[in-house]
Amino acid sequence: MKYIERVLEEIKQKDKDQPEFNQALEEVLKSVEVIFKKHPEYEKMAILERLVEPERIIQFKVPWTDDKGVAHVNRGFRVQYNSALGPYKGGLRFHPTVNLSVLKFLGFEQIFKNSLTTLPIGGGKGGSDFDPKGKSDSEVMRFCQSFMTELYRHIGPDVDVPAGDMGVGGREIGYLYGQYRRIRGISERGVLTGKGIGYGGSLARKEATGYGLVYFLLEMLKANNIEPAGLNAIVSGSGNVAIYAVEKAMQHGIHVIAMSDSRGYIVDEKIDLKAVKKIKEELRGSLKDYPKLAKHGQYFEGSVYDAKLKAEIVLPCATQNEIDIKRAKAIVANGCIAVAEGANMPDNNDAIAYYLEKGILFAPGKAANAGGVATSALEMSQNSMRYSWTFEEVDEKLQDIMKQIHEQCTDAMKKYRLDKINYVAAANIAGMQKVIDAMIAQGDY
Ligand code: GLU
Repeated sequence: MKYIERVLEEIKQKDKDQPEFNQALEEVLKSVEVIFKKHPEYEKMAILERLVEPERIIQFKVPWTDDKGVAHVNRGFRVQYNSALGPYKGGLRFHPTVNLSVLKFLGFEQIFKNSLTTLPIGGGKGGSDFDPKGKSDSEVMRFCQSFMTELYRHIGPDVDVPAGDMGVGGREIGYLYGQYRRIRGISERGVLTGKGIGYGGSLARKEATGYGLVYFLLEMLKANNIEPAGLNAIVSGSGNVAIYAVEKAMQHGIHVIAMSDSRGYIVDEKIDLKAVKKIKEELRGSLKDYPKLAKHGQYFEGSVYDAKLKAEIVLPCATQNEIDIKRAKAIVANGCIAVAEGANMPDNNDAIAYYLEKGILFAPGKAANAGGVATSALEMSQNSMRYSWTFEEVDEKLQDIMKQIHEQCTDAMKKYRLDKINYVAAANIAGMQKVIDAMIAQGDY
């Protein structure tokens, strides 16, 4: 479609140096043609141009001193993308690969993911190229304090509510929150989510992304009359999302046979999740130590997707662009019937096109991993009420939300008569239409 092509081309010219951002734009915009065909007036209103441009980008320096007294400087960012539905909401990523291209892709996707949760949150993302790996607790603390010393003036419970992402978990959120409270001199719990349970965090937030992913997967399998129990699964990653996806998948009788980290992967008939939790949550170590701890299973270097393991279910929960066309072909050739993304954009656009062509059930991250941010929004509700729900209450709400997201997808497939099962287009259409409606209702901002 000409309008979409034109906007994509303009951004390609303006942001030549932002490949991840361009990739995400292409994935989203090319699948929402039906919206713009139905509403030719959107072009005159420059809806797409308004959508692809972040409302605000903040960049700042983050100086900090290591334990030896050596000074370092990292880059800090916050992309406040779209607030039509509510305060900017989205994680902070601390990882050496962080740059503006990565954060703009994540922020753009976050707008529609958050819209799908049905909760009142806009989209944003932030982070730093700081690498927490191998740093001591006090180094991480000093970094977080320096980061928040700049960020605090741009956020607030009704303005922008950051949370965790890769490299930012409970420890980092604690340090960030402490510094915010210290500078502002006010106990404003709703400013960050993913907090510790003792100071305003929500039960089940830690588990939410992984659990939510499996809830979505189960809905998708049910809609296609597939029984999950007894199927084999590969889960890449071994962070928060992967660990709790494995836990929930196992509870439903799915056999998880492999997990991975940045260097290698483990293969085991029955993954010992306790051992993985110990390595990753307590020791902050490598999966290399798994066979020793679990007393079974094997560790290999390289990508789990090059191992040609036979599995019906694949849950990519590591990072973006883990799966290209070659790996997608191998996944399908090894018997896969469903892929659900726990990470953001782990499959590139060629991989996704291949799954769709082969009739693989494919759940894109913005639908399948929305349980994390949805539970963050539930944490915000609890903070506003000054009250907390039980684990079961939060989990029940999460299940409900994941069901609703699935329903929005199947409704969009019906309403727009998508010619085959296409959760990518459906999630993008359903997520985007709400944002567009809210933007139009609020004038030409
Ligand atoms: N980083 C997570 C995501 O990609 C969670 C964000 C949040 O809880 O705000 O959705």
